[in-house]
Amino acid sequence: MAKRMLSEAEGYDLLREYGVPTPGFEIVTSADAAAKAASAIGFPVVMKIISPQIVHKSDAGGVVVGISGAAEAKKAFTQIVESAIEYNPEAEIKGVIIEEMAKPGLELILGGKTDPAFGKVITFGMGGTLVELMKDVTLRILPISREEIRTMVREINAYPLIAGYRGMKPRDEDALIEIIAGVATFFEENPQVTEFDINPMRLYESGACAVDARVIVD
Ligand code: ADP
Ligand code: MG
Repeated sequence: MAKRMLSEAEGYDLLREYGVPTPGFEIVTSADAAAKAASAIGFPVVMKIISPQIVHKSDAGGVVVGISGAAEAKKAFTQIVESAIEYNPEAEIKGVIIEEMAKPGLELILGGKTDPAFGKVITFGMGGTLVELMKDVTLRILPISREEIRTMVREINAYPLIAGYRGMKPRDEDALIEIIAGVATFFEENPQVTEFDINPMRLYESGACAVDARVIVD
């Protein structure tokens, strides 16, 4: 089968089975349905484009955060779809995902890739817009123990932001370790998955929440 990208919703559904917390969501295909679904989820919500051809949704104008009312949700639907079509007229638009808006947290990246020599590898590092610049990531070949995961987490330069830096409260490192163990199992148990990333995963003083998921299957 050809390589293909699952939708964010499909990614969330798969990852949730392995203990990854995700926002509640609904998928809609009209502006009226968007207003209705957003009201049912409860404001504020985030709305994003669903298209297999659009990998970086923000680049396509395909993400609107902080939507606080039904009329705004209706407008956002039209805006998101129009931006996406303008960005890539060839893109197949499957709809729009409406999600609970997660509170701010420390943004981390969890990922997996298949190395031609080593096989399945998981990566962990700082998220956010400066990631590519900082290259603050670490990786391990699967399988991996909880102990090894803890070592991995403590390896990144930004670890003090997790442990608690200059009077900032520590983040939920144990929850993070459980989530990494979960995604490692997810990756091992699904041979058709060749690559994935959760970018970002928000880590809190208690718990965490994935707010994006990209899963590639072959
Ligand atoms: P992209 O495809 O551009 O990576 P994302 O799904 O990561 O799109 O969304 C872009 C940004 O919007 C995220 O990095 C995050 O900061 C914010 N965001 C996305 N979804 C949510 C959500 N459910 N709750 C809060 N913030 C979100
Ligand atoms: Mg993202």
